[in-house]
Amino acid sequence: MVFHQIGEASGRSLSISPEALRRRVETLRRLDYRFVTSREAARASRTDRVAVIQFDDGFESVYRVAFPVLRDLGVPGTTYVIWSRLNQPGSLSTAQVAELRAAGWEVGTHSHSHAALADLSPGGLRRELSPPDAGRAEAADVQCVAYPLNRHDARVRREASRQGLNCGVAGGPPPLSRADPMALPAPAITPWDDALLPMRSRWGLDARAPLMAAGVLLPILDGVGRPHPAAPPPAPGMPRIMSFSATA
Ligand SMILES: [Zn+2]
Repeated sequence: MVFHQIGEASGRSLSISPEALRRRVETLRRLDYRFVTSREAARASRTDRVAVIQFDDGFESVYRVAFPVLRDLGVPGTTYVIWSRLNQPGSLSTAQVAELRAAGWEVGTHSHSHAALADLSPGGLRRELSPPDAGRAEAADVQCVAYPLNRHDARVRREASRQGLNCGVAGGPPPLSRADPMALPAPAITPWDDALLPMRSRWGLDARAPLMAAGVLLPILDGVGRPHPAAPPPAPGMPRIMSFSATA
């Protein structure tokens, strides 16, 4: 399940509250899903029932809002960081990344600048996927990549492997299998997941896939096909809600 920014809903954003995040986790838990990080999902057997709670783009609200909820539930998250935004306003800081890691979270790469990897030259692709400034603590032990905007192809996946990454999250409409560790499924989230997730569990089919394929969901999902804007600084004292989108 891919989440993004945790903040106020705007425009066409879908949003759920931290309470809804808690409810989704509890729903999956009732369905016997085991919560793992991306790298553990990549190694899980195909019959394992595993779920990854994933946050793309490295927004600071992941630390402030989602982390306490998941810590309370005993669930590790995975956050994919855009390295050029680390320590920027609205984004995770180095210290927060370290604290998430210490609590069992996985930190993966979401590229240096959130580029559409499939469109890049070989040199550009290499730069986007290379480890950020060797020696920096937050870059250590990065094993997985979430492809920005879900844009990946065989060349992108090959370069990711060459850079030492051993799993990749594909996002978008869920594929039918998770056979390729460099193209793990990452279903988008919908407002109907409380009802749809049990169906998926029971029949092994994601009822959202045909909706997404038909374009029914896409127009209302935030940020599809566009780079994610920077997070605005949080307003003090405002209630926090979580928004999410189909893009990674
Ligand atoms: Zn992203």
